[in-house]
Parts: sequence; structure tokens; C-alpha cells
Amino acid sequence: KIGEVADSMGFGVYVVGGFVRDLLLRRKNDDVDIVIEGEGITFAKAFAEMMGARINTYSKFGTSVIIFPDGFKVDVATARMEYYTAPAALPEVETSSIKLDLYRRDFTINTLAIRLSPEGFGTLTDFFNAQRDIKEKRIRILHNLSFVEDPTRVFRAIKFEQRFGFTIGKVTREMIKNAIHLDVFRELGGLRVFNEFRQILEEENPIPAILRIFDLGLMKIIHPGIEKHNDLIDQLDEAKKVLAWHDLMYTDEPIERWVIYFLTLLSQCDREISEEVAKRLMLAPKHKKLITGDRFHARNAYTWLTYSLPATNSDLHRKLSPLRAELLLYIMAVSANEEIKKAISHYMSQLRHISLSIMGRDLKEMGLKPGPLYSRILEETLAAKLDGTLDDRDDELAFAA
Ligand code: ATP
Repeated sequence: KIGEVADSMGFGVYVVGGFVRDLLLRRKNDDVDIVIEGEGITFAKAFAEMMGARINTYSKFGTSVIIFPDGFKVDVATARMEYYTAPAALPEVETSSIKLDLYRRDFTINTLAIRLSPEGFGTLTDFFNAQRDIKEKRIRILHNLSFVEDPTRVFRAIKFEQRFGFTIGKVTREMIKNAIHLDVFRELGGLRVFNEFRQILEEENPIPAILRIFDLGLMKIIHPGIEKHNDLIDQLDEAKKVLAWHDLMYTDEPIERWVIYFLTLLSQCDREISEEVAKRLMLAPKHKKLITGDRFHARNAYTWLTYSLPATNSDLHRKLSPLRAELLLYIMAVSANEEIKKAISHYMSQLRHISLSIMGRDLKEMGLKPGPLYSRILEETLAAKLDGTLDDRDDELAFAA
């Protein structure tokens, strides 16, 4: 359908990039990227209208996102026709615009395209030997200035290398060293570094990529104070385990997995370094607060646990309930103390979701005037429930009374 619609408008159309790469690797990928030879936005508008889909457009980049009613998304980019005036008054020459579009990409493995236009439908286009690199499991840049042009590609190279179990090609490796040597990262905007780094931390298993970043001397781009200290690998492994444990609990609560790895990486950095990291990565206020504030509250809770175990359920709840799940998982990851881990996991699996069945309205019905006493009564009733002395709603009402 896409092919026919584009064709009726006189445009060529291809599905490109990660989607095609993953098709060859037989990996699942729901991100469909389309390139239109012509006017991407004009096509996207017409196609979305026809399919009853929504559309967001970014005219500055000639890109759009088509969002189907079931949430499925298709990114549409424009490969502008590029005309070169040939010498000696010959007519202008139109180069293959899809080739130019693909040449701007990061690695050969991302340059494959499948034609969707009726003429040549289904043809695999491979200008840069991508199939060979996929077969030989190699990450390779398209030209030697690639990392100078866009240093974030260094992080992307590591991400793909570790995700697919590929190897960064010899020349590409040299160019990474060269980029580090030339310090091309100095001018790189914090948001872009953060975006790529966060993507790495969101990988299924980010640990090999994190270690590769250290070994290549790239962590200092984020901050020289983030060190590969002796306990780090164990703590990262532990972070992975607690995340797997959390997955098994099947809670509905979504968590940001990258946060746990990020906090674990920073666990030995002081507040000053954390402030600088937040500044370097241009973190949004809530993420800045996580590493410069919340993390230290979590550490206080940890210190409290080291002195107060065994604690009652209600004490555990009082101390741990202000902390979001990511912070609790983080303390579990960096704690070497099994008792503390057990207490936190007990809180997360058993206590965290316990709540009262009575509420302010019930206190009002008892004839109590609304006021600060309400929250104290409810707090104490919850404490009693957590400690196992109240079985049902009647018990709660009796206790509150
Ligand atoms: P992932 O599977 O992690 O989502 P991806 O390659 O499928 O990776 P994106 O990171 O969204 O998806 O990138 C989409 C496409 O855009 C890639 O296939 C790549 O060709 C291109 N691309 C992304 N970032 C860059 C970059 N920094 N430089 C050049 N091309 C890039």
C-alpha cells in the first residue's frame, strides 16, 4: 500500500536501517523507518489521512511520524533529490538520492534498504557491503571522518557490537582511538551523550558495553570521576540480578531500568561529582534530583537498616516507602549485606502494596472532625495492619476508633 500511494505521487519509497538489519539478523524490531525519494511530509500526510492515522511532522528535518490507531508507528524521512550541475551546459544530473541518504548513516549494517515501490518491489539495496559485514559480524563506519562528524557514533558502535556479539572493524577501531586522541567529544552536547549512554544502559545486558566504555577510556567523556573501582563489576552484576528478580514479581509498576545501572555506576561518586555529571549530561530536573538528592536519601535508609535490623514491618515501611522502586533496587545492588537485601526484598514483595481499606471518610462517619489527626490515625492503623494485628476492615475501623 505504501508503495502504491508513494508511486501515485511520483515518489520512490524504501524501508531502511535497523528494521532491515534486524530482518537479516532475524531479530524482532517494531521501529519501521521509511525513506521517501521526494517529499516525505507530503507523502506522510496523504498516507496517514488515507489510513485514518495521526501524524507528527518536523518540517525542519523533512521527517514525520505516522501513528496508527493501535499505536504502531512509522517514521518517514525525506531523501531530497540532489541535483548537480554537470559541466559544459549539460542538463542537471539527478543522483540516486536514496544512496546519499544511506551514506549519511552511522555504520554499514544500518545502510540496507528494501524497495517498496511497485517497480522493483522487495529488492534489497546494498550500496556499502552491509550484507558482507552482517555475515562477518562487523561494525564498520562508512568513511574515515564519521566519528569526527558525529562522535556519538562511538557509543553506538559499542552498543551494536555488544548487542549483536559483533566486532568493531580494524579501521573503525583505529578511528575511535583517533577520535579520542583528537578529543572530538569536547564539543559534543550533553543531551546527545546522555541519549546514547541511556540507550546503552537500556540494553538487555548493558554490562559488557559499560566495561568496553571504560576500557576505551570513554567514561571520562561523561566524567573522569566515574571509576571502574574494584567492586563495580560485582555491583553491576548484582544490579542485573535484582532487575531479573523484579521482573519475576510481575508488578504493574513500570521502572526505568537504566536508572539502576546509572546509580550503580555513580555509587562511589560524591555529591559534587554527581552535580557535574548532571550538568555535563544536561539532565532533566527529575533525573538530576535522582543522582544528586534521592540517591543520598536512599543511602541514609541503607545506613538506618544497618543499625536497625531486624526491624518491624511498619518501621521498614516508614523508612522505605518514600523511595521509588529504582532507588530500592539500587540499594539492593550495591549492598554487600544479605540481611539488608532480604529486608528490602521483603518490603518490595510483601509490604509495598499494602494499603488500608478505610479512609478519611470513615473517620468522618465516626464523628471525627477533619484535621491533622486524620493522617496520624491512618498512619498508625496502617502500621498496625503491616505488623499483622488487623485482619479486615472491621479490625481497621475498631483500631481507628
Ligand atoms: P535501535 O535498534 O537501538 O533502536 P536503530 O539503528 O534500529 O537502533 P535508531 O537508533 O533509532 O535505530 O536509528 C535509526 C537509524 O538512524 C539507524 O538505523 C541509523 O542508520 C540512523 N542513525 C541513528 N543515529 C545516527 C547517527 N548518530 N549517525 C548516523 N546515522 C544514525
